[in-house]
Amino acid sequence: MAAGGPVDRSPRENTPPRLGERASGADDTNAVDTRARFDERARMVERQLAARGIADTRVLAAMRSVPRELFVPESFRHAAYADRPLPIEAGQTISQPYIVALMIEAAALAPDDRALEVGAGSGYATAVMSRLAREVVGIERHRVLAERAAERLQRLGYANATVRCADGSAGCSERAPFDAILVAASGPRVPAALLAQLAPGGRLVMPVGGEHFAQRLVKVTRVGDDEFREEDLGGVAFVPLIGTEGWPG
Ligand code: SAM
Repeated sequence: MAAGGPVDRSPRENTPPRLGERASGADDTNAVDTRARFDERARMVERQLAARGIADTRVLAAMRSVPRELFVPESFRHAAYADRPLPIEAGQTISQPYIVALMIEAAALAPDDRALEVGAGSGYATAVMSRLAREVVGIERHRVLAERAAERLQRLGYANATVRCADGSAGCSERAPFDAILVAASGPRVPAALLAQLAPGGRLVMPVGGEHFAQRLVKVTRVGDDEFREEDLGGVAFVPLIGTEGWPG
């Protein structure tokens, strides 16, 4: 994989191995953070993130601190630190670590920020974001994922993170405004509801483009009441954002 710009850095987002592909030989330990896992995580941060240009030391520290193996199905724990997305329940994916770090770095989370993640999935990125912001709200459209992510985050002690089940393409008006919004699924355009819920100076990071191809990761900054600045962070491939302001289900 190229170590240059962000283009093609998540080429396999939609093509993880199938759930249950390796049920035997999986590491089913319940140990929360063994030395081996700690070392694997440190290697992942160094080789997959820092070496590819993730430079924000707070983001690197947050990625080093969250035990990704506890957010993937047991049969995939052996691959928790692999350089690729992995399958989770409901036919969805947990994103490649590099893409999680890239999006979170672009969102420039500050310690006092309130953040929203649309497409919380396993709750992994929500957990990483919670290490960097005051409060994180995750939204997931699949109930089974939302409930498991909420339970997992609570059990692991991420007390400033919550997950609810809803259509996140409409945002979360009752908790808005947000200093940062991450959308972990690709829509045809940036939802107007999410732009409206950005605080002044707020940043939104999201893949936009075709339902299954030709997507660009964009960063939108609210620079005035009705003024937004958009940057292109490169080509990516994400699962579709399904909802009122996304793709039809
Ligand atoms: N960030 C997640 C993690 O760390 O595990 C992985 C996100 S996965 C690539 C994208 C998620 O977006 C899926 O779980 C999918 O169900 C969810 N999703 C798609 N459309 C959605 C919507 N309108 N509202 C909320 N979640 C949505």
